[in-house]
Amino acid sequence: MKQTSSKDILSGRLGPAIGPARDDPGMLPAVLSPTELAQQLQTTLDLERMLELFSRAILWAFPHDGFSYDHPAIGVHLSQGRLSRHSCSYNLAVEGQQMGELRFLRGRKFRDQELSQLEDMLAGLIYPLRNALLYRQALQAAQTDPLTGIYNRAALDRLLPRELAAFQRAAQPFAMLVVDLDHFKMVNDTLGHSAGDRVLKAVARCLESATRKSDMLFRSGGEEFVVLLRMAKAGHGTKAAERLRVALENCHGVQDAAPGFHPTASIGLALARDDDTPLTLFDRADKAMYAAKQAGRNRVHLAA
Ligand code: GH3
Ligand code: MG
Ligand code: MG
Repeated sequence: MKQTSSKDILSGRLGPAIGPARDDPGMLPAVLSPTELAQQLQTTLDLERMLELFSRAILWAFPHDGFSYDHPAIGVHLSQGRLSRHSCSYNLAVEGQQMGELRFLRGRKFRDQELSQLEDMLAGLIYPLRNALLYRQALQAAQTDPLTGIYNRAALDRLLPRELAAFQRAAQPFAMLVVDLDHFKMVNDTLGHSAGDRVLKAVARCLESATRKSDMLFRSGGEEFVVLLRMAKAGHGTKAAERLRVALENCHGVQDAAPGFHPTASIGLALARDDDTPLTLFDRADKAMYAAKQAGRNRVHLAA
């Protein structure tokens, strides 16, 4: 019963987007039962792991060299295995909800019977996949600052240990900037809290445009932001911090949000050391930011 309704969804909404030339069907090995497949897929909510499990579970019945999964609306592109000549792809959807495109690749052509078996097995993937996508979106929401749309403190706590460890392993320069707006309270006091909110949004946009794609930007609290910099040379840290400071001084969005308020920020810069932990790195960058405040604000201070 369950299998039939899943297949209805498939036949109604799925279809090969890139159809390979098909040859005669022949003998095929037995397919994993829908229950066995469902049991395997229910062991995880992680999208990448689930697709990997699916690919492995169907490999015997549906040999393939690799697969890719794309869901541009939520910024996901995953691929595994190798690129091959023939491909078949499926636009997955359930109850009107788009769930991305899954594509399988292999050197020899896919046969009709194989494709029809694959479609049956995809029916077993659809609902677990929907759960994995919902889980991913919930995780994303929990790590996003609702006001500015950038990463929040929880994301910083999750990503900093991973980033720091990766750069220490690669012995590549890595830095943290703590950016605290100067006299921000004045905006709230004189123009109101909602003007303050608009300023914070505008500041996030200006910081975003002044950072590189490889940098990571967080709102770590109130009117304080953190930037993680992946650099080619340690000297680039000071340049990047100065670029952010100047970008804030010239942030047009802030002028629109709070006329008369001239945004500036005090910035602490700490270059990661081999023996740094996430805590010591943050502590040094934070202290450097306070030193920049004490030295007169609107400046960059390099941590000892
Ligand atoms: P300093 O130059 O010393 O950093 O001064 P400041 O006024 O920027 O710092 P202070 O810590 O005195 O004030 C920070 C203010 O930020 C106080 C708080 O109400 C405001 N704030 C924190 N979060 C938000 C927010 O989400 N929206 C708005 N509108 N204001 C916020
Ligand atoms: Mg401040
Ligand atoms: Mg502050």
